[in-house]
Amino acid sequence: MKTKEQYIDSIRKMKFKLYMFGEQIENIVDNPIVRPSLNAVAMTYELAQDPEYKDLMTAISNLTGKRINRFTHLHQSTEDLLKKVKMLRLLGQKTATCFQRCVGMDTFNAVDITTYEIDREKGTDYHKRFRQYLQYVQDEDLVVDGAMTDPKGDRGLKPSKQSDPDMYLHVVKEVEGGIIVRGAKAHQTGALNSHEIFILPTVAMSEEDKDYAVCFALPADTEGITYIYGRQSCDTRKLEGGKIDVGNCNFGGQEALVVMEDVFVPWERVFMYREYEYSRILVERFAGYHRSSYGGCKSGVGDVLIGAAALAAEYNGVEKASHIKDKLAEMTHLNETIYSCGLACSCQGSSTASGTYLIDMLLANVCKQNVTRFPYEITRLAEDLAGGLMVTMPSEKDMKSPVVGSLIEKYLRGVSQVPTEHRLRVLRLIENMTLGAGAVGYRTESLHGAGSPQAQRVMIGRQANLSWKKDLAKSIAGINTEEK
Ligand code: SF4
Ligand code: FE
Repeated sequence: MKTKEQYIDSIRKMKFKLYMFGEQIENIVDNPIVRPSLNAVAMTYELAQDPEYKDLMTAISNLTGKRINRFTHLHQSTEDLLKKVKMLRLLGQKTATCFQRCVGMDTFNAVDITTYEIDREKGTDYHKRFRQYLQYVQDEDLVVDGAMTDPKGDRGLKPSKQSDPDMYLHVVKEVEGGIIVRGAKAHQTGALNSHEIFILPTVAMSEEDKDYAVCFALPADTEGITYIYGRQSCDTRKLEGGKIDVGNCNFGGQEALVVMEDVFVPWERVFMYREYEYSRILVERFAGYHRSSYGGCKSGVGDVLIGAAALAAEYNGVEKASHIKDKLAEMTHLNETIYSCGLACSCQGSSTASGTYLIDMLLANVCKQNVTRFPYEITRLAEDLAGGLMVTMPSEKDMKSPVVGSLIEKYLRGVSQVPTEHRLRVLRLIENMTLGAGAVGYRTESLHGAGSPQAQRVMIGRQANLSWKKDLAKSIAGINTEEK
């Protein structure tokens, strides 16, 4: 397994074509906007080296028998599924942001199950190819960016009916040794902190869309791939040189628009090619895994926000007020409900034909549906406890000003035992997580990440088993529809 330093060095060697604020960025690793997001991924390496977290952060590979980072593992039991959720909670607690590496892990598991089924049905050899690829990922301890979301253009039209055929990523043609692909993936979490990019289809498809039913992996800096960095609220505070106004000074999330312009993919890196019938199940499984992941990461980040709100109350001298205690209890209840769903869909998981364990799909969708709501309420309560000063307080430069710094120190103090700076720091952290750069990874991502709320409602509706429930009701109510 790589150390944190080896990981950072390995990303430094990549040759990404990245644009940000209209300019090409050469040194990505030391860029102050990018670096906090790299630090968040680096934590997945750092904790894997720590004996205290060995059980959660690492696993024994079913492919090689070697100890590997759990982010590259195929789940071999419900215990593995549970440990994944616990690992993500831990990382949320350590970074208070999205640490990005889970998308690849959830991709591997969904692709493993689905390629096995495609091969069984069609006599192809995708599964063997995929497992060889995954062994390489495990041996090298790589970060892989699972890339699913196409730009989608007119949402009312299928991929093949779009006026611009590139609105969904697709195969352009076959060439000697592989295929040429074109298109884009939007909102790509951790794209520039990844060694590899792994493309999946994003919707169910029919035969006419078969050129869009493609699944493959490439080194993330392959010729022909362009990255355009996603802005975050308050992101340029990271360029000001200070630490306090950023709120979460060391960690952050990352999203980018990834464009592939006629990129070559060798056959050995292609894991699905025009098997359109499997697009839906692959998407659903990936989404199910990622929805279960949110039960871990979002509850971990929630722990930090609850802690920050409790600190803000303490620094204001109101921690003993009954309504404050009640609000903190409510936040905890909501946060633990999210976590409970992550655990529930894991322990109700089951083995599939490939041997890889899949979460309970209904409960995973329920988990994410709760995540589309509860962090908003937790956020509201955190802002309530923080007070309005969170959005009206002066800047770090004013705090350090020889002229007005002492006025801020005097007038913005809460309880006398706590330095004013501590009070302001915790308010900036709450600001970061609720409406600043960190809100991407907590607030809005809770709504749209791993699929917007309606996507879960469709899956929940499909698995509600209403006819069986109607029979239960009939039986209890004494309704016998068999009678003439
Ligand atoms: Fe991982 Fe959560 Fe970020 Fe998804 S949103 S990549 S599950 S930390
Ligand atoms: Fe996400």
